[in-house]
Amino acid sequence: MKIVEFDEKGHRVEREATATSSAGVSSLAPRPVLSRPAVEAPRERRKSSGIELHMFQTGTLRTKTKYIKMNQGEEAFEIPVPWFLLKHPQGNVVIDGGNAIEAAIDKRGHWGNVVDAYDPIMQVSENVVDQLKMVDVAPGDVRYLVQSHLHLDHTGAIGRFPKATTIVQRAEYEYAQKPHWFSAGAYIRSDFERPGVNWMFLGGDYTDNYDLFGDGVLRMIFTPGHSPGHMSFLVSLPKSGPILLTIDAAYTMDHWENKALPGLVVSSGQAADLGRQAARNSQRHGGNGGHRP
Ligand SMILES: [Zn+2]
Repeated sequence: MKIVEFDEKGHRVEREATATSSAGVSSLAPRPVLSRPAVEAPRERRKSSGIELHMFQTGTLRTKTKYIKMNQGEEAFEIPVPWFLLKHPQGNVVIDGGNAIEAAIDKRGHWGNVVDAYDPIMQVSENVVDQLKMVDVAPGDVRYLVQSHLHLDHTGAIGRFPKATTIVQRAEYEYAQKPHWFSAGAYIRSDFERPGVNWMFLGGDYTDNYDLFGDGVLRMIFTPGHSPGHMSFLVSLPKSGPILLTIDAAYTMDHWENKALPGLVVSSGQAADLGRQAARNSQRHGGNGGHRP
């Protein structure tokens, strides 16, 4: 297992590790104590071609309004479970992976009682690996797996790509080991504690707007609130322009327009600030507030 982090000067640090437990990772990869924001040095924009953004979904979740919009009713509410593939000349990137295949095979066995609140409606064929094959991407062809956060409807791709580096916020990884009681059901350890994962941890505000390829095509925006280490993504495509993938920072337009908090949240204040924060970030990088979620 390889771990990549950032030191106090914002430089990448790589190290080998053998443990997969949280304790092992923490001791081998000390929490960076950063004295200043590790703002990415501006790099020369390169002309890119062969850049494509594909959207997929691993079925839907059948739930209730109150589980999506805090305190807003018992009515039935069904949401898609999206994930994305970014094809890039420097490598394929999977953004989240939807539900794990096990949620289609034995949902209560894999997810437990959380299915009473969020019921996954998913076919086995909708798993991330099989859907990637439809666009001619084999598991060994994925260079990066980027995790918005580690809730159970986003972790279906972890450990499925043998050559991938998996990028997540350190705060999210650590919280997933010891979540609060109210969000414990949303984290499935067997999804993210799979063997052979090469992790790369980002450091919150200090690595905000991390530019994966250095060309502005994929920037990672730190948007905590729904979960401690949530990230949204600003994808800048050569023809379509910037697209802001808010992920769970804004499930619906009501969240974007400050009319609802997420049904699951670890910080109401941070979650409420997200619309402004994400819009500011995308505008700073040439967006128009992003295509709306
Ligand atoms: Zn979530």
